Amino acid sequence: MNDSLSKLAPYGLDEEGLVYLYPEKLLLRKEAAQAFEQLRELARLFGYDIRVESAYRSFERQISIWNRKAKRELPLLDATGKVITKEIKDPEELVKTILIWSALPGASRHHFGTDLDIVDASSIPEGYEVQLTPEECSGIFKPFHDWLTKEIDSQNSFGFERVFIEGRGKIRPEPWHLSYLPGARPFQEIFDLNMLKGLYRQTDLACKEVLLDTLDDLAEDYIYPYFL
Ligand SMILES: [Zn+2]
Repeated sequence: MNDSLSKLAPYGLDEEGLVYLYPEKLLLRKEAAQAFEQLRELARLFGYDIRVESAYRSFERQISIWNRKAKRELPLLDATGKVITKEIKDPEELVKTILIWSALPGASRHHFGTDLDIVDASSIPEGYEVQLTPEECSGIFKPFHDWLTKEIDSQNSFGFERVFIEGRGKIRPEPWHLSYLPGARPFQEIFDLNMLKGLYRQTDLACKEVLLDTLDDLAEDYIYPYFL
């Protein structure tokens, strides 16, 4: 199966086999999309209306998010979700701060096209704007997440599991992020840190020097613990 994946597939640089999810018009690899629609159908039977907030994301898009955060064109948040207003001069500190809420470009699981962020649209109050926070998952979306946990635990979730959970690596828990593991594993298997470094060297990337110097260590905290 790995032979069919292009070398660039794990980094958001290969859109082969992506299909649209409806009504969201977001992209997912075909196999993951089919499994997801089964999960969505099951949820519907229990009264939940799964809406996808984010699915496949390209390398270019993740670079753009990263660079805008580094330039402070997008707000930087601390671990509690508060906007940081002080200037951050040390590039190493800046990298660690961006990493609180954003993935390393080229190393987001959203690049695989097998991972997605979901909410239960049936629990969203009128006029409420979804933030994708842990508070929502233990608040308005709690019944949905309790149900989802039960289905995952009983291996009834069509291959989807949570990956960003407490006790793994340094990425904060993201209960809303699901990975279609049978589809994600081939991407994990061919993921190569040296390849990613090569891509960084060719890219206009904020904090590039720090990233190239520390990528091996960063991978131990932010990438490999989530390769399941
Ligand atoms: Zn996500």
